[in-house]
Amino acid sequence: MRVGVPKEIKNHEYRVGLTPASVRELVAAGHQVVVEHNAGTGIDCSDTAYERAGATILATAADVFAGADMIVKVKEPQPSEIAMLEARHLLFTYLHLAADKPQAEGLMKSGATCIAYETVTSRSGALPLLKPMSEVAGRMSVQVGAHYLEKEQGGRGVLLGGVPGVSPAKVAILGGGVSGVNAAQMATGMRADVTIYDISNDRLAELDMFFSSQIKTAYASRAAIAQAVSEAELVIGAVLVPGAAAPKLVTREMLKTMKRGSVLVDIAIDQGGCFETSHATTHDDPVYEVDGIIHYCVANMPGAVARTSTFALNNATLPFALKLATLGADEAMRQDPHLANGLNVSDGKIRHQAVADALDLPF
Ligand code: NAD
Repeated sequence: MRVGVPKEIKNHEYRVGLTPASVRELVAAGHQVVVEHNAGTGIDCSDTAYERAGATILATAADVFAGADMIVKVKEPQPSEIAMLEARHLLFTYLHLAADKPQAEGLMKSGATCIAYETVTSRSGALPLLKPMSEVAGRMSVQVGAHYLEKEQGGRGVLLGGVPGVSPAKVAILGGGVSGVNAAQMATGMRADVTIYDISNDRLAELDMFFSSQIKTAYASRAAIAQAVSEAELVIGAVLVPGAAAPKLVTREMLKTMKRGSVLVDIAIDQGGCFETSHATTHDDPVYEVDGIIHYCVANMPGAVARTSTFALNNATLPFALKLATLGADEAMRQDPHLANGLNVSDGKIRHQAVADALDLPF
């Protein structure tokens, strides 16, 4: 198949659909790959690196869309990209259609087959193409939390790990899923005093086994969270209730009990946030203060580490991209029902029940 990789055009998006290493795998499998000029500049992958991997560099996005049957991207297609999609195209990217009716209608009008990363499933029912971004956000949450705890950043002036003779900072992680575990790995690595709160007792038991004595676990009751917030220097919100807005676990009242200069990192902000005082911020202006507590609420944290994020995403997407390119969309989805769960739009129709329900469109 002819596979195309346009340069991402969404504001502040530096990631790219395929790395040179992924291009090499596709070429080795007998496919042709065309890449837009400078598509990988944001992650320091030059046109030459893509050419060495076997890709052909094309000058514009229009050339890529015209010269490829399958388009691999990162972000949802922007209006100018939707205008270039035709019925013969297979689009493989994040779409997040449930909250974006104009995009859904544009994709339906194009007639293209659109497979969304975020609804591809795994055998365990998890979302393997969302997982790498939760891993990135979880690990980053501790990095940014440590940064904003520094005095010059407005923080309390506390070192997460303490030093010999001075106690480490307390880190409370609300939600012990993918991002919560990754946050805990970083925080324990920095020698902080870490507790994970979750409402799943099975999950708490797994975490207890996994981390052994490195962390504490606690059931996420209102009382336990209130106490955690009053004691912690860094609180990380990493909860997810699939398909629903994040529960508001930390109220404005609770902020008054916190130590001044403590930091809240709300990873769950893309689902509305799990702190009552959270509102989405951007990498341009990532933090704000409420009652002396620093809030970091960036909705696309992985964008800040675009290179790591691109490689992590490619590790997860490449097996599916190879399957799609080799078998074609219909056969690939027939053979792999988890990939088929990724189908959101084809032949002018919404093909995913939850997306159709959210948009009030026929399924
Ligand atoms: P996950 O499903 O792996 O884990 C969520 C955990 O939250 C589960 O263990 C669940 O039991 C727990 N939970 C649910 N309700 C709870 C409650 N009331 N109290 C305590 N725990 C509760 O989810 P994940 O992949 O770790 O993602 C977490 C959030 O991070 C999601 O909203 C996701 O979209 C978001 N995310 C944000 C960014 C970003 O850039 N901000 C990046 C990636 C992911």
